[in-house]
Amino acid sequence: MRKPWSRLVGLVLTLVFSLAPGASAASPQPSPGVRRHLSADPFARISRERLFATLRELTGIGASSLWRTSASSGEAEALDLVAARLGELSFLRAAGLEVERQHFRTYLATEVWSARLELTVGGREVEVPAHALSGNRETLALALRFDSDGAVNDAARNPVVVDGPVIVIRSAAEIAALSAASAHGRIVLLDYAVIDRGIMTTQTAGGIAATLLAREPAALVLVTSFSNVHGESHGSFVGDLSVLVSLDGVPPVPTLYVRLEDLAGAGLRSLEDLRAVEAARLTWDADVFSPGFSSNVVATIPGADRSRAVILGAHADSANTPGAMDNGSGTVTLLEVARVLDAARVQPPVDLVLAWFGSHERGLYGSTNFVTTHQELLDRTLAMLQVDCLTRPLDGIRADLYLEEWPFGRFGDPRLTWPEYLTQAARDRGATTVPLAYYGIASDNASFAPYDVPNANLVFMNPVTMDEVHYDGHLHDPYDTVELALEEADTLEAMARVALTAALRTGREDPVLRVTPRPDRRAVFVATHTEPPHMTPAGLTDLGMAFAWEGFDVDTVPYGRAVSPAELSGASVVVVLPVAAYPGGGTQEVWGAAEVAALQGYAAGGGLLVVTNSANRLKYANQVLEPNVHRGGANAVASPFGVTFGSGTLPGTSARTTGSHTLIQGISTLQMAAGNGVPFTVRAGQVLAQVGSQPALAVVDAGGGGKVLVLADLGILGNGGDQPANLQFWRNLARFARSR
Ligand SMILES: [Zn+2]
Repeated sequence: MRKPWSRLVGLVLTLVFSLAPGASAASPQPSPGVRRHLSADPFARISRERLFATLRELTGIGASSLWRTSASSGEAEALDLVAARLGELSFLRAAGLEVERQHFRTYLATEVWSARLELTVGGREVEVPAHALSGNRETLALALRFDSDGAVNDAARNPVVVDGPVIVIRSAAEIAALSAASAHGRIVLLDYAVIDRGIMTTQTAGGIAATLLAREPAALVLVTSFSNVHGESHGSFVGDLSVLVSLDGVPPVPTLYVRLEDLAGAGLRSLEDLRAVEAARLTWDADVFSPGFSSNVVATIPGADRSRAVILGAHADSANTPGAMDNGSGTVTLLEVARVLDAARVQPPVDLVLAWFGSHERGLYGSTNFVTTHQELLDRTLAMLQVDCLTRPLDGIRADLYLEEWPFGRFGDPRLTWPEYLTQAARDRGATTVPLAYYGIASDNASFAPYDVPNANLVFMNPVTMDEVHYDGHLHDPYDTVELALEEADTLEAMARVALTAALRTGREDPVLRVTPRPDRRAVFVATHTEPPHMTPAGLTDLGMAFAWEGFDVDTVPYGRAVSPAELSGASVVVVLPVAAYPGGGTQEVWGAAEVAALQGYAAGGGLLVVTNSANRLKYANQVLEPNVHRGGANAVASPFGVTFGSGTLPGTSARTTGSHTLIQGISTLQMAAGNGVPFTVRAGQVLAQVGSQPALAVVDAGGGGKVLVLADLGILGNGGDQPANLQFWRNLARFARSR
C-alpha cells in the first residue's frame, strides 16, 4: 500500500525552494513592439515546478470549509487567484490581455462556516482536521439535511455542537446489531468503507446507511483511509455525492468526515485504533442557499488574426475535495499556458480564450452560461479544448491521455477531426494522446457541441478498464491531492504541452475541423426569460447538432437580454424557450410587450416560430427537477396565436403522432420528459402529436406564410441519453426550417 504523503516530503521542499523570491524577477519588461525578436520557444518554458506550485496554492483554498465546491466562497477565491495570476502577466497585459469575470446563479449552493472535531484519546483532547459534507446537488429538501439549521438562505452563524461518548462501527453487521438505545447520545465513528458506493452498489450502500440513521445516533463521523488497490475503499464521493446525500425518510444527523491519515496527531494510525477514542466533540455550521452564486474567469489574449479564436477551458471548482487533479490540473494547465506565452513574449496566431468555469460539478453551470453569452466568439472559434483532468489510476491500471469528443456519428460522420489533428500536432511536442468518441456529457466541452464548435476533453484514463473514472482515478475523493498528482507529474506536463499546442498551432495551420456544411441559415433560440442554462441549446446537444448538420448557425439570445426584431432578422427558425428561473431568486420573469411584438412580428412576417413550455426545471437527458412556477408565462407569447397553456401536466413519457405532416414523417411516437408536458389548447391549427386526447405538438398558421409550432414539453427537444429517441424529429425540424 502506498503512503504518498510521507515519501514526498523531499519533493515538496524542492518546490518551495524553487519558488524563492527572484525567480520571476528574471523576466524582462514587456515590449510588444519587439516581441518577434525576443520570442523563444514557449514549450521550453513549461515548468513542472510552476505547475505544482500553483496547484499547491489552489488546493490550500477552502481547506477548513468546502474546498472549491461549486458556488462556494472557496470557488470564488480560486477564481480570484486565477485572475490575480493573470494580472501579473505584464507582456500579455501590454499586448491587450482582457480578463472578464462572468457572474451567474446556480440552483443550489452550500457554505460551511465551521467543521471541527475534537477527539479524546487517553484522557487527552486533540483537535483533528475534519470536513463537512456538501448536500444534495439538485433537490432542495434533501440539501437542507446538510444545513445545520435546516433553513434555506439563512446565513446566520449558529453552530450545532455535539459532545459525547463514541461508538466505532466497522461493518454492516455491527449496524444491523446496533440498537437505538446503544446509539442514543453517541457519536458514531464509521469506517466509510461500510457505506462506500465506490465498492458496492448505491442501493446496498443506501440501505446500510439508512439503517444506521434510523437508530438516531447523536452525530456521525465518516473515517476514510487511503488505498490504491481496486476493490478497496478510498473515500470515493465522501464529501459530496455519498449515499447520505440522497437518503430520505430517515432523520438527518450532523455529519463530518475525516481522513485516517490526519488522525496521527491523536495517536490513531489504523482504523482499529479508533476504538481507543473515548469521546468526541463535533462542531458543525453549514448553510444552504437557493439560488447560489457562481462565476467564470475568461481571459482573452489577442491573436495576430482577431477574426478567429481557439478556446481552452478548465473548471476551477472541485467536488468538496482538495481537487488537485479534478480539476486543479486543468486550472493550472491554463495558467501555465498564459505564463509561458508571457515569459516567451509570444502572441498567439489567433485569439486565445482561456476560460475557467465555475460550478461544473453541479452540472456544467459555468460552461453552459459561457456559451450562451459568448455567441459572437463561438461563431469564429476554430476549436475548443477542455482540460479535465489528470487522474492517479489505481494500481495495475494503465492510463493514457485521451481526447474525447462528441462527434456527428449519429448524423453519419463519426470522424474525430479535432482530436485527430491535435494528436498529430502534439506528437511533435512529445505528448501522446488518443482520440476517442464519447456521445455524452464528458465535461465542459460538451456545452460547445450544440453550437458546432469542434471540441474535445483531455483526460488521463483508460476507457476500457476504468469503468468508473472517479473511483478508478481518485477523483471526488479526499486523496485527490497534490501528493497524488505528483506521482503523475510527467502526465501533467504532457497535458500542458497538448494545451499549448492547441493554443499555438491550430490557428497557424487552420485545419478543416468542422464536418458540417458552411452555415447559410440561422436558428435563433430565445432564452431571454430562461435562467437554467440546461434548458437552452447548451443542454440540448443533439438538437443543436441537428441544426448544424443541416447548415444552420445556432445562436442564442441569452437569459436577461431582451429579444428584439434585430436579434431575429434573417432567422429561418426561432425557438422560444420556456419561462423559467430559480424559484428562490426573486426575479419576475414576464415577457415585455415589445418582446412579444418582436416574436409575433417574426411569425407574421413568414417565420417559423417554435413555442415551448416545461412544467418543471429540466436538466441533461430530461431529468425532471422542481416545478417551474413560471410556466404560465409562455401564454404571453402563445395567446396571440390562439394557443393557451393550462394547468396540470400531460401524463407519461410519450406522445403519439397523428396525421402526415412533414415534421412527423417516419415518427410514430415522440419521447417526452416524465410528466413535464404542459397541456394546451389550440383554437385553430393542426395537432401533430397527442397524449390521450390532449395535444402535445401542434402547428398553427400565423398569417403571411408564418407558422407557429407549439410544444407542450421542452423535453421533446431534450437529449435522450444513450438513445436519442427523437433524433428523427429534430432532423425533420431542421430540414423543415431549411426548406421554407
Ligand atoms: Zn472534472
